[in-house]
Amino acid sequence: MSEPAYRRVIVKLSGEALTGTKDFGIDQPTVERLAGDLVAAARLGVELGVVVGGGNIFRGVEVSAKGVPRPVGDTMGMLATVMNCLVLEAAVERQGYEARTLSALAMTAVCETYNRKRAVKNLGKGRIVLLAAGTGNPYFTTDTTAVLRAAELDCEAVLKATNVDGVYTADPKKDPKAKRYDRLSHQEAIEKDLRVMDGAAFALARENRMPIIVFSIREAGAIESVLRGKGRATVVG
Ligand code: UDP
Repeated sequence: MSEPAYRRVIVKLSGEALTGTKDFGIDQPTVERLAGDLVAAARLGVELGVVVGGGNIFRGVEVSAKGVPRPVGDTMGMLATVMNCLVLEAAVERQGYEARTLSALAMTAVCETYNRKRAVKNLGKGRIVLLAAGTGNPYFTTDTTAVLRAAELDCEAVLKATNVDGVYTADPKKDPKAKRYDRLSHQEAIEKDLRVMDGAAFALARENRMPIIVFSIREAGAIESVLRGKGRATVVG
């Protein structure tokens, strides 16, 4: 078996990854499977920070479209990410591995508050660190959070879990002729308008030369494969 290609990474899981075959909420068997994948990846000796989205419960823009002020909707979205982190934390711990949820919004009765040193310390102890509540600010996304945390925690890459096995020339679900890239630069992704992440997230990745590895989370063991430099994925950067 090949050695892991990375020492410390951020894994970005969208809220959708937790829904399984449903289109909303948390599917417990799927959470258990994801936790197993994270534990297997961490057992390679790679330090794992995990940024979890909240779109399976609330998205700020959708809530605000119904008349709730955007910052309130975004706060609801950030709270949704905390729920997702807590359920994943519990599943990781049930598998006998240590995990810590650190929230960008202080809620001391629930979990510890994020700060960089605390995150680095927990990563250094080999714990899977679940990074909750996004950046702690409205108008941002958890993709931006993933790149931000990767940069500030000195990570080597963001592993962006999606429903497809990489970046394509067009949406492979709509265009059967769409071709998958093995590798491309941040600049190429911008020029070709490939929308790997939202604009703010991608700009931050480009500015900090942070590689983004896009892979499918639908296959069990995918995180481990990517860390070993195997499996199907697109490396942007
Ligand atoms: N959010 C936010 N600030 C952040 C991160 C997230 O306000 O720094 C809110 C925003 O409303 C977003 C929601 O949390 O829609 C859930 O995050 P996201 O949409 O990124 O989740 P995903 O699509 O990855 O499930």
